[in-house]
Amino acid sequence: MVSPMQSHELVVKTRAVATEVAARHADDVDAKARFPRETFDALAQAGLLSAAAPVEVGGAGANMQQLAAMCSALAQACGSSGMVLAMHHIQVASIARHGLSSPFFRSYLEQLVEKQFLIASITSEVGVFGDTRSSVCGLRREGGRYQLEKDATTVSYAEAADDFLTTCRRNADAPANDQILVLLRKGDYTRTQTTEWDTLGLRGTCSPGFKFVASGPEEHVLPGSFADSSAQTMVSYSHILWSAVWLGIAADAVARASAFVRAEARKTPGTVPPRAHRLAQVAAQLQAMRNNVFAQAAEFDAIMQSPGGMEELLTIGWALKMNNLKASASEASPKLVHEALQIIGLAGYKNRGKFSVGRHYRDALSGALMISNERVYSKSASMLLVYKDE
Ligand SMILES: Cc1cc2nc3c(=O)[nH]c(=O)nc-3n(C[C@H](O)[C@H](O)[C@H](O)COP(=O)(O)OP(=O)(O)OC[C@H]3O[C@@H](n4cnc5c(N)ncnc54)[C@H](O)[C@@H]3O)c2cc1C
Repeated sequence: MVSPMQSHELVVKTRAVATEVAARHADDVDAKARFPRETFDALAQAGLLSAAAPVEVGGAGANMQQLAAMCSALAQACGSSGMVLAMHHIQVASIARHGLSSPFFRSYLEQLVEKQFLIASITSEVGVFGDTRSSVCGLRREGGRYQLEKDATTVSYAEAADDFLTTCRRNADAPANDQILVLLRKGDYTRTQTTEWDTLGLRGTCSPGFKFVASGPEEHVLPGSFADSSAQTMVSYSHILWSAVWLGIAADAVARASAFVRAEARKTPGTVPPRAHRLAQVAAQLQAMRNNVFAQAAEFDAIMQSPGGMEELLTIGWALKMNNLKASASEASPKLVHEALQIIGLAGYKNRGKFSVGRHYRDALSGALMISNERVYSKSASMLLVYKDE
């Protein structure tokens, strides 16, 4: 039976882009480490880049479960495309949930709905050593305008994005963790690439380092602090939607293993191939991963329905759940792909062909590094010292 989430219009449309466009170009995107242009043109054409924008500005107002199902469906065809879509949704959600009190951001979201802008994220920075909750660069303000220079270690799809949501210190004298978010709009910045992106996996995210020099109207500063928008939006959206992407990558590898076993079974009718036993074990693990991701997405949506929802997202209990999901999903995904490879054997080890899982394997390995799991576990370890689960 197809769940109501999987049959939601946004998910059905995303799945069509996944199978008709993203899957066709996934190997080329991976081989050339190029941006999945065809996929994002198709998503924009279908109006899917404003899924996370609220209904009141003309968006689809998608909830977390719907966004997760979209990211997972796209990642089944192309991991890089799924991850770019997830990162874009995270930026739109950050603006939608923290910027609507500002006339500029309200009008920006209306334009995004109409023009299907693609937004990228700049939280990484040279000198903060992976800690996204501190910044070296600080905002300078003068005469109603801001100025900012940021040297980022990793910026995905910077060449393809229209605009960037970036972290920085509130001002040059502010402490490193007193951060805000600023929207760098096309025409307000110049960027210079500083490193290469020739990686094992997620090659199509195209994420080298860039130096940005930007100047624009002060109203492009998102209201509030990054301490709040990070805890209430960016962390939850990142960890749930990234996990949905890792789920999609694993699900496609397991689907290939399943197709392989079925093809084997057809050769010897009436017998169950020995590899089917291992497939049964992997199917159980995949189901546990899927339930983990979608249960957290459903819990997030339920929290957002309650009056004190935004406050609950600031609790240690919720932060631990997000860390647990991020760490467990990023570890489960490469394990599942590994299991799929053991089932398929050599046909899975080959770089091309319908049973190949090489791209899936390499893509899945990025999960544990994308905000290092060591860092995630070490933050959870400190929280567990003061947190008692009922
Ligand atoms: C595919 C991909 C796309 C990305 N896209 C973007 C993007 O669009 N924008 C952006 O800003 N960033 C992006 N990033 C960067 C990401 O957000 C992180 O900043 C980056 O992955 C951290 O890099 P790091 O491993 O060098 O740093 P660190 O987190 O510092 O890790 C370095 C090493 O230190 C260890 N370590 C770190 N902290 C601890 C600790 N507390 N205890 C023990 N060991 C620890 C880690 O295990 C690791 O071995 C992307 C990353 C990936 C993989």
